[in-house]
Amino acid sequence: MARVRKVPQRICVGCGQTRGKKELIRIVRSPDYEIKIDTTGKLSGRGAYLCRRMECLSAALAGKQLERALRMELPQEVIAALKKTISGDSF
Ligand SMILES: [Zn+2]
Repeated sequence: MARVRKVPQRICVGCGQTRGKKELIRIVRSPDYEIKIDTTGKLSGRGAYLCRRMECLSAALAGKQLERALRMELPQEVIAALKKTISGDSF
């Protein structure tokens, strides 16, 4: 049986565009209500996706899209970690 290689597509909560999973940052709310940036793609829990772009993070924060997707408030340290992840990846 031939397996079709499909790239999973996810929607960025900042710009609403569909992208390949690898182009996005996954943010996960674990079952014990901790928010983590999932760099391995293996954490379980409710997830939200964001492009590796500062504009998308800003848009998501301004519109509370991440809060809505994760159903809880985003801790400051998670926001700081996201900013660091995005700026560190952009060059
Ligand atoms: Zn985006």
